[in-house]
Amino acid sequence: MLKMSVFFEEPKWVGQRQKLVNLLRSKGISSTTVLDAIGAVPRHAFFSKDFELFAYRDAAFPIGNGQTISQPYTVAFQTELLHCMPGHKVLEIGTGSGYQSAVLAAIGVEVHSIEVIKSLVLAARKVLKNIDIEIYTYLGDGSMGLQAQAPFDRILVTAGAPTVPQVLINQLKINGRMVIPVGDNETQKMLCITKLSETQTKTEAFENFKFVPLVGKNGWNF
Ligand code: SAH
Repeated sequence: MLKMSVFFEEPKWVGQRQKLVNLLRSKGISSTTVLDAIGAVPRHAFFSKDFELFAYRDAAFPIGNGQTISQPYTVAFQTELLHCMPGHKVLEIGTGSGYQSAVLAAIGVEVHSIEVIKSLVLAARKVLKNIDIEIYTYLGDGSMGLQAQAPFDRILVTAGAPTVPQVLINQLKINGRMVIPVGDNETQKMLCITKLSETQTKTEAFENFKFVPLVGKNGWNF
């Protein structure tokens, strides 16, 4: 579970975070593992002082370089679909602020997170260190996965992809799951892909979301 040994916070944040957890529950998030993780991670630590008061609203927020920290509902929805178990090795593609990584770490999984924008990786590392959360971060094109650390129990893509990259399926263990939003620039459908065997997968489709684009070799090329 989340180690809070060096991170102290004002009590007002605890109350605000509990309200957010209640809101997510009312929106249909039912996994207590996920709700407890959202309830444990200080989302305001990922915001600059001037914008902290926005931290517990259920909304995405700009983090610079045209990118956003995902909406808490989206983080909860994706995390719930992943069905993570403590000890799982998880690849997150699109570290962004690092908030989603922290939520995964709070569940007790081993998080490997890759981000293509250098300043964001550096900023995320700093915040995660401040709140005493240990994850492995990488700078690179996550649309290619992370072959050096494969295979993974779970892969979570937090940017909108044009298609499901086969290379990511290759990097999943058998019975592994990948959650990935796939669509055009306007809207993406949340897909959950289970790797049944070396050659077979099962795909389930869920709600529509709006993510920033996955760029790179298997993403959108701008
Ligand atoms: N999970 C993040 C939200 C990420 S927004 C959070 O909790 O804050 C999506 C992120 O994906 C952006 O930071 C963007 O730079 C990154 N991204 C887009 N294409 C990528 C790629 N090919 N490899 C790695 N990261 C990518």
